[in-house]
Parts: sequence; C-alpha cells; structure tokens
Amino acid sequence: MKKYSLAVSVMAVFLTVGSAAAQRPDTASTVTVIEGATVIDVVSGQPIRDAVIVIEGTTIRGVGRRGSVPVPANAQRINAAGKTIIPGIFCVHGHLAQTEGMERKQEFYNRQRIQRDANAYLYYGVTHMVSLGIDLEPMQGFLADQRAGKAGGARLYSGGLGFAAKDGWQPGGYQGIHRPTTVAEAREMVRKEIAGKKPDVLKVWVDDGNGQLPKLSPELYGAIIDEGHKQNVRVFAHTVKLEDAKELIRRGIDALAHSVRDQEVDAEFLKLAQDKGVTQMATMAGMEGILAYAAGATFLNDPGLPVLFPAAALRTLGSKQYQEQMAKDPNLAATRNQYQLALKNTAKIAAAGIPLALGTDSGAPGRFQGFWEHREMELLVRAGLTPMQAIQVATINGARLFRVDKQYGSLQAGKVADLIVLNADPLADITNSRKIDSVWMNGKRVDRAALGTYGAGSNGEVFNIRQASPGR
Ligand SMILES: [Zn+2]
Repeated sequence: MKKYSLAVSVMAVFLTVGSAAAQRPDTASTVTVIEGATVIDVVSGQPIRDAVIVIEGTTIRGVGRRGSVPVPANAQRINAAGKTIIPGIFCVHGHLAQTEGMERKQEFYNRQRIQRDANAYLYYGVTHMVSLGIDLEPMQGFLADQRAGKAGGARLYSGGLGFAAKDGWQPGGYQGIHRPTTVAEAREMVRKEIAGKKPDVLKVWVDDGNGQLPKLSPELYGAIIDEGHKQNVRVFAHTVKLEDAKELIRRGIDALAHSVRDQEVDAEFLKLAQDKGVTQMATMAGMEGILAYAAGATFLNDPGLPVLFPAAALRTLGSKQYQEQMAKDPNLAATRNQYQLALKNTAKIAAAGIPLALGTDSGAPGRFQGFWEHREMELLVRAGLTPMQAIQVATINGARLFRVDKQYGSLQAGKVADLIVLNADPLADITNSRKIDSVWMNGKRVDRAALGTYGAGSNGEVFNIRQASPGR
C-alpha cells in the first residue's frame, strides 16, 4: 500500500499538466477529421482506402472514402496518410487486480489495482474488457464510478463471482466463489448474485482438473444457466473437454471461455454450437505463452511492457534461469498438445461459421493485460483465420456477444468513436496491430503515456495510477 501514496502525490502533478494540455486552441472546433488512412470496416469485412472519419463529440458522424463524406469547414483535420485504423479491441475474458510482479494472490485485489489494470488494457487499445468471474467487492464501487464518468481506463464489465463444484476447481486460488450442492441452492445463489452485484455475465467452471477434482454437474450448471437467462444475464463456461462442452451447449450456455483441448471437436459439437448460437473464445495466448517462455520469449521487447509492468518481473521472465525452469516443467508436452488441438479446433469452428470472440485470460503473471490481446490476434491468424477475421473477432464479435454492437465494436456513423490508429497495416501482418500511433476513446485521443504505471527507466518504481482518462 505504501507504493500508492507516492502515486497519489505524483498524480496531482499529472492532473495539472493534463488540464494545461486540454486548453490547446483545438477546442475551438468539436469536429475532428482523421483523413487519408485505411479504415478497417469490420462489418463488411473490407478495408476503406484513403478514408476519412468524421468525429463530433464522442460519436462518429461519417466514415467513407475521401470525398464521399461531408467534412465541416471548421473541423480540426488530422493527416493519417499511411496509417490504418481499427476499432477499439473488445476482450471478453480477462482478469484484474490479482497480480503484483510475478506473484498472484487474492489479497492483492483492490481498487488501485483494478484501475492500474484498466489503464494497461486501454494503453494497448483495449477499450472494453470483461473480467470473468473472480471480482471482489471493490469492483462494484469501481464500476459505479466508471459508469458515472468518474474513473477511466478500459470500460470494464464484471462476471461477479462465478460458480464451481463443492471442493472442486479453484480459480487462481480464489476463495469464496459459489459452490452450490443442490438445484435450489444454485438458483438462490444466482438470484442473490444478480440482485446484489448486477453482474454483466455469470461464469461457471466445469473442470475436473484432469480427473483430480469434483466437477459441477449438468443438473447444477443447467439450473445456473436457466436462472441467469430468466433475468436476462448470459452465462459463460470455463471448460476444456469436448463432452462437457457439448452438455453445456445442450443446457443453453451462451459462450465457451476456452477451446476444447482434450480432442478435436466433432460434427456433433459443431452442429450443437451452430444450432444454439454459441460463441467460442479460443483463449490460446496462455498456453502458447507457457511454450514461448520455455523457449525464451521474443515478445518481451515490446515498448509498452516496461511502462506498464514492473522491471523486476520483466527481467525474471526474460532470464535464462526462468526459461530453463519453464522448459523443465513436466506438463510442457501436455501443454504443447493442448495448444495444437486449440489451433485445430479454432480453425474448424471458424470454418463452420460459429462466432469467435476475443478471450485471453490475461492478468496472471507474465500474461500482460492489453498486450496479450494482441498476441491472441496473432494466434488466431496462426490457427488459419485471415487478419481481417482476427480483427473482427477482436472487435465487433465481442460487442455483439455483449449486445452493445449498436454503439461499439465497429467504425460506422452513429457509433462511439473508439479506435486505434496504427503505424502499419495489420492486414499485411497481424502483429502490426501492436504498432500503435494513438488510441482514441469517446472521440478523444488518449494520453497513453499518462496511463503508464512505471516511468520509462524507473527501475520499477510506481509513478502514476491515473484515476481518470481523457474523455471520461
Ligand atoms: Zn480466465
């Protein structure tokens, strides 16, 4: 906690600097035009070359080829020739406030770390993030403030506290998740969870830890799903085995938060998922990350990481010693198999026209929030999706899953202006999604440097947990 008192005093300086910057003369016009870039239209699946985006206040007023969209005479014009613009990223499965450096503990969960992590997501252009199933009480206060415009960072959504079997799966060591033993108890717990916390989604864990643990029964998760649906709350499942995934679909699950990874998905699974309109998250970055760390991760040179994550943790993750330790893990071969199955299954699911949304399980040590979402897009392309499909998965599909696609998830007239301006074309190479020029949220350019938790070259001292971001 001591660290954060420093953060507060530095923050006061930041707010002063921020308000001076806000008084630049460009406030004379409320219309901003970004012109000359390639705009990725995720609805049509086509790029618009030499485009203009007209932004008025928080909203996109027009998008199209230069000359096809009226531009007000007094607009502030920004030349973006050579750049590519994609919508803000929508992550539907990540985690918050559980990590400090290389450690992960329930005790870490607090308001400052929720803010810190919301900032990290936004730094990388993730404008929406769904915290899936292990949120403690400070999250409700944070969400109330954020939705009232009093706290910044990526827009967060919460799965509250999820449901698992008695004596069963322990998500990240978290105590206190719901563990019903009867149908009546399961229904009552759902009603209380929804009434008390108004979660945006519910989560069930259906996982026996490779035969080691009791698993939530179909009867119980069926009741949880049914009770959630009665109150218009969708239910997502953590599950990894094909037969469990099928039964969850039969019982009405809305989305699968992980790839099936015990075997290849079969025709019955694909038909069930199609008929029931289930969304799949591939969530491959965690598995691939373990393999990458064991081989010496090449992605640790991303310039955003030292700004957002402590130097000591980055040194550890990049060390020979850590690599050797990871390479010796007896589970490594199993992880490699599961990852290969996830790649295959993701390709099959995409080919069957079953919607995928971007899930990453970011938030544990070494699973960097914000950056991990870009890595997952890379893995979707490795699985066989086109870069355009990967961008659709990461944007409009998440907005559709959360039924906010009328406002978010695409760059169209009438939508909220949340976008990422890239210095290179992600359709040519999906890893270009990380070459970020600027992030815009609610029609305003985000001050990314001010979202950093650590100063560049700070040797890991916290310098800022900014409470508010531009445009909120
Ligand atoms: Zn998760």
